[in-house]
Amino acid sequence: MHEASIVQEIIDITTEQAKQNNAHKILEVEITVGAGAMIETDLLASAFDIMKGETMLEEAVLKINKVNLKLHCLNCGKISESDKMVSMECPYCHSFETIIESGREMLINKIIAE
Ligand SMILES: [Zn+2]
Repeated sequence: MHEASIVQEIIDITTEQAKQNNAHKILEVEITVGAGAMIETDLLASAFDIMKGETMLEEAVLKINKVNLKLHCLNCGKISESDKMVSMECPYCHSFETIIESGREMLINKIIAE
């Protein structure tokens, strides 16, 4: 499961940051997941709940902000947004000559620790 390795990464990064700030436990982690990041946020949330045990994140709450995928069409120049990675097809002119502007990212926005 690909979500498990992402959760492991979140745990590693946040634990490292908390240690650097002399914190003992992490209370909240807020992340941004792009619709094009190919991450199932439900799976991510359940993997987090399973994996956070016996780490500094044991009592932490995971907040997930989802952002839309933005597709820029090179043919008609329009930008379309989608909450799912359906295809690379432009919904306006049906060209496949598109590039992803944003929405593929997975970022950690905020960590609350004490
Ligand atoms: Zn187009």
